[in-house]
Amino acid sequence: MTTRTNPRRDGRDARPKSGEYFRGCRVVGITLTRGCFVCGGYANFRSAARARVTCVNAGERVVALFDGAARVSRNDPDSEAAQVTVGACDKHLKNLAALVRLTKNDIITARKIRRAQKAKP
Ligand SMILES: [Zn+2]
Repeated sequence: MTTRTNPRRDGRDARPKSGEYFRGCRVVGITLTRGCFVCGGYANFRSAARARVTCVNAGERVVALFDGAARVSRNDPDSEAAQVTVGACDKHLKNLAALVRLTKNDIITARKIRRAQKAKP
């Protein structure tokens, strides 16, 4: 059993009016990523940010917003809760910080991702 619950609708694939829920996004240090969300690349260990999503389906929609340069994983097999990990190479750490800043309201959109990708150091 788990005590982790979705604060909005427990276990349901809830979505905001636009974009997707992307809760508590923070930089987590070096971890396995699909690539850099700015310049692409291959699966490797990189700096990353991670956020909670409503469920695996919602996480897959978020990964699609990143054009696949992110990955979704479940942290607890007893819970629908999932997380999305977004990587950035050493040249694009400022962009990762911008992504964290832009998603402070726990919602991610394609527009916010584009803004973070264009963030200047
Ligand atoms: Zn990069």
